[in-house]
Amino acid sequence: MGTSNIADKVVVITGASSGIGESTAKLLARHGAKVVVGARRKDRIDAVVKEISGAGGKAIGFAVDVTKRAELEALIKGAVDSFGRVDVMVNNAGIMSIAPIKLLKVEEWDRQIDVNIKGVLYGVAAVLPQMRKQKSGHIINLASVFGIKVFAPGGTVYCATKSAVRALTEGLRVELHAENIRCTMISPGAVASELQDGTSDQASATFVKELYTIAMPTDSVARAVLYAIEQPVDVEIDEVVLRPTLQDF
Ligand code: NDP
Repeated sequence: MGTSNIADKVVVITGASSGIGESTAKLLARHGAKVVVGARRKDRIDAVVKEISGAGGKAIGFAVDVTKRAELEALIKGAVDSFGRVDVMVNNAGIMSIAPIKLLKVEEWDRQIDVNIKGVLYGVAAVLPQMRKQKSGHIINLASVFGIKVFAPGGTVYCATKSAVRALTEGLRVELHAENIRCTMISPGAVASELQDGTSDQASATFVKELYTIAMPTDSVARAVLYAIEQPVDVEIDEVVLRPTLQDF
């Protein structure tokens, strides 16, 4: 089953216990990829692995906190021990805590920076030696339309983290293309997932809920990831920006 350029590729996905990561794992597995999924909620990861395996796909899962470099290294080691290589790393884990800066939710600023920026960097650090050894690979980072446009008050810190992911991914592309490592950023607008529940400020949470009434399904983003992976090796999709048709920013 599936397309020749995805079948048997080993794809590691962080934040695959829900939302975009979970949908992507299932879609890629249906196209014949061997998926390696990680997130903190091991029970949810186990359920994703069970569903994929039950449908005849190949999947293994690990408990991973992306703010801990050693756990990302263990994830990559797990992938290589089981499947021999890593063709694609999807740095997807992320959190969003919307609040005006004046509320000084400094711990939430720290958490967003740790997961959304440092988590991506630790993912890159973990997988890069393996991809360089293979002389091939593909790093896909989940950015956001909020990395392109800043919405404030409320999104200042989240937008800054996603803006950082954009800059990092472009820098990676420049540094790694000569090593046959492709780099892609996926920048979605509103997607129906648990991400919207990460906002503790009540007024901002109400705003987010309203914004997300037009959200697109997670599968829309999974298809963008699939599109980037299935291109022939001499074609790199640098960025996919996708929004719900009704989203006006
Ligand atoms: P979800 O909340 O459904 O998924 C987020 C995933 O990240 C979960 O699997 C969660 O798993 C994981 N995660 C959070 N913190 C950590 C951590 N410290 N270590 C490991 N995993 C972690 O949201 P989405 O699927 O929507 O989000 C996926 C990505 O897409 C994020 O980077 C998000 O910023 C981005 N995005 C989402 C948009 C949206 O509107 N939904 C729009 C644009 C971009 P667990 O809690 O089990 O660890």
